[in-house]
Amino acid sequence: MAKQKKNKRTKKEEEPLIFEWNEYHQRFQSRYISQTYNVELDDETLRDGLQSPSVKDPTIEEKLRIVHLMEKLGIHAADIGLPASGPRAKADITRIAQEIFDNKMKIRPNCAVRTLVDDIKPLLEISEKVGYPIEAAMFIGSSPIRIYAEEWSINKMLRLTEEAVDFAVKHGIPVMYVTEDTTRAHPRTIKRLYTTAIEHGAERICVCDTVGYANPLGVYYLLRFIMKMVNSLDRNIKVDWHGHSDRGLAIPNTMAAISSGVNRVHATALGIGERVGNTQMDQLLINLKLEGIIKTDLRKLTEYCRTVASAVGFNISPNYPIIGEDAFRTATGVHAAAIIKAERKGDAFMADRIYSGVPAAMVGRRQKIEVGFMSGISNIVYWLKKRGIKPEEHLVEEIFKAAKARDRVLTEDEIMQIVKYSSGGEIQVKKDSLKSWDKGIKFNKKNVSLKPSTGKSLQKSKSTRAKSKKAVKAKMTKSGALRNR
Ligand SMILES: [Zn+2]
Repeated sequence: MAKQKKNKRTKKEEEPLIFEWNEYHQRFQSRYISQTYNVELDDETLRDGLQSPSVKDPTIEEKLRIVHLMEKLGIHAADIGLPASGPRAKADITRIAQEIFDNKMKIRPNCAVRTLVDDIKPLLEISEKVGYPIEAAMFIGSSPIRIYAEEWSINKMLRLTEEAVDFAVKHGIPVMYVTEDTTRAHPRTIKRLYTTAIEHGAERICVCDTVGYANPLGVYYLLRFIMKMVNSLDRNIKVDWHGHSDRGLAIPNTMAAISSGVNRVHATALGIGERVGNTQMDQLLINLKLEGIIKTDLRKLTEYCRTVASAVGFNISPNYPIIGEDAFRTATGVHAAAIIKAERKGDAFMADRIYSGVPAAMVGRRQKIEVGFMSGISNIVYWLKKRGIKPEEHLVEEIFKAAKARDRVLTEDEIMQIVKYSSGGEIQVKKDSLKSWDKGIKFNKKNVSLKPSTGKSLQKSKSTRAKSKKAVKAKMTKSGALRNR
């Protein structure tokens, strides 16, 4: 009864467990922020992603698997390659487009082409072969620095735009007109290029931060300018945003683009792409879900990222958000203690959020507590209990000593070796093997016993038990470090 009373939250406490500063703008009903976020996603992993200088080109089987995972994650469109880049690209694009058609997938393919008739021709051939039109992501440079280096003239660019858009439209290919480096382009140039493309039949325009130059406010103002221009044409033109990570601002920029009211945003798995890459699709999906913009089940997200990583030969860094090994893992006493307390209240929701901005369950993962030099007793007790091992005091003490003597987190094997050794005759572990990794531990094999898994303690002398108990208790009450610091 007493326990129940303790766990019950008072009326004052019955406010939300998390105060939502992130959604505060909705309370203010800001006229500057779009209230309708019907944003779609275009996956660039198989085009821009493969332009990363560090990737290998995945096999066609791997590419098909990746497209199926995109479909499962509710991604609306995918750039499936550059048809003009060679016969293998063309064959792969054809196979992927066929797979999408045969499986009646919802995902819509598009292909990158330069604003040249000769680039559109191979796309047209593929479209005719698979029996449905594939959208052309027709790109052209737009910034003064690029125009100057290429020695282009605006009139030449407008003429190329007219020819290429006319050719695609005449053959039933939908056009997304993509201006590269839009975030450094002059508004006059942007307006002339987009207006020409739209007048000649482009259904969609794409604003690009090709070199990762923009900041969120810049994105917001640029897109407000473009949205205003597009709306004045009254043609129901869609607007895309395509961002890069050079300044580490890809996600905030993409969120700013969504707030500006764009219809679709581009991203790649793990952010792979040119130089340091694109907007990270995985991080974007999580942010959209946390903001309530999408309702998609994201439990396939880890598989999607790991499949792409394996297909392109990338290692996922342990501290990579959401997907990395350490995303939901802690060895720190104060963090572990808070998670354990939340779990003890029988509140999985709280335990998954108390020290995590992203709940692990959202992506089919779980919080993991490790034992290391920053750990407290609670880490060890929790670790043992999770594995069905009774946390006898002497055992906890021995693991604690080992953890403090190390300069990193103990591995599962290392902790299990201590457990096995402490179990006396139950499981034979050579003392030498323990000595080799920790000289600081004093093993008292004689009187120590613990039966792993059953949680049932074996015989142990009273004196040893009392000694261990005293030592652990002293540590738990005396040391601030043990109390989660
Ligand atoms: Zn790009």
